[in-house]
Amino acid sequence: MPELPEVETVKETLKPLITGKTVEKTAVYYEKMVMPETKESFNQLLKNQILNTISRYGKYLLFEFTSVTLLVHLRMEGKFYVKEARLPKEKHEHVTIFFTDGTSLRYHDVRKFGTLTLKVPDSIFDNPPLNKLGYEPHHPNLTKTYLKQKFKTTRSIKTVLLDQTIILGLGNIYVDEVLFCAKINPLKPANKLTTNQCETIIHCAGKIIDKAIELGGSSIRTYLNSLGISGKFQNELTVHLRANEPCIICENPIKKIKVGGRGTYYCSHCQK
Ligand SMILES: [Zn+2]
Repeated sequence: MPELPEVETVKETLKPLITGKTVEKTAVYYEKMVMPETKESFNQLLKNQILNTISRYGKYLLFEFTSVTLLVHLRMEGKFYVKEARLPKEKHEHVTIFFTDGTSLRYHDVRKFGTLTLKVPDSIFDNPPLNKLGYEPHHPNLTKTYLKQKFKTTRSIKTVLLDQTIILGLGNIYVDEVLFCAKINPLKPANKLTTNQCETIIHCAGKIIDKAIELGGSSIRTYLNSLGISGKFQNELTVHLRANEPCIICENPIKKIKVGGRGTYYCSHCQK
């Protein structure tokens, strides 16, 4: 699944390629993906719209057109390709936006789990799904006081950090890396964390996400970004996917366990 850094890379890759273009028409081959619109209303709403910019909120991409915003979640396998409009539709291309300059943006999704939803820009952050999300690393509202409040639960810190309504944008890989950086055991109940540990989590989350964005994400599974470039962050992973390899700090073997059904990697010596 693409995580925040991969989605950031997709955004930065697409921006110079399609910003400023005008929509000529759209083609929807799998209508469920654009619900609640139909293929006709999707086309009607996007026709003649100019793409002003592309932004990102957590793992959502926001294609900001003149008077409508296309909110996209790539889910498991979604990818975008920019192609000449005359090229034939490929098997897993489910939605195409044709621009007036003879190019097109194709949404490709083998698993068909992605969503492309049209929204009114003014109220987009006041309504689901965006109003339910927490704060990204580096957001000024993400403070130790805020975390202390949100951590009033006996659920494990690993599970709580995966909860996107608390910290936004940390997926499974990054949570393992953050907990190793903060020297916190993934099984520790969230309510047992000290204020200092909350502060360390904020610091580590910011540092790890920055590094991952700089390197284009991790791309561990089948995910490649929109131009087929895989991320280099996977070479920087300190614990995730390193079961039985020596810890980079104490050289004890890294352990793999399941927490809340998710494969979790940690050093039982450094993360007491
Ligand atoms: Zn260690």
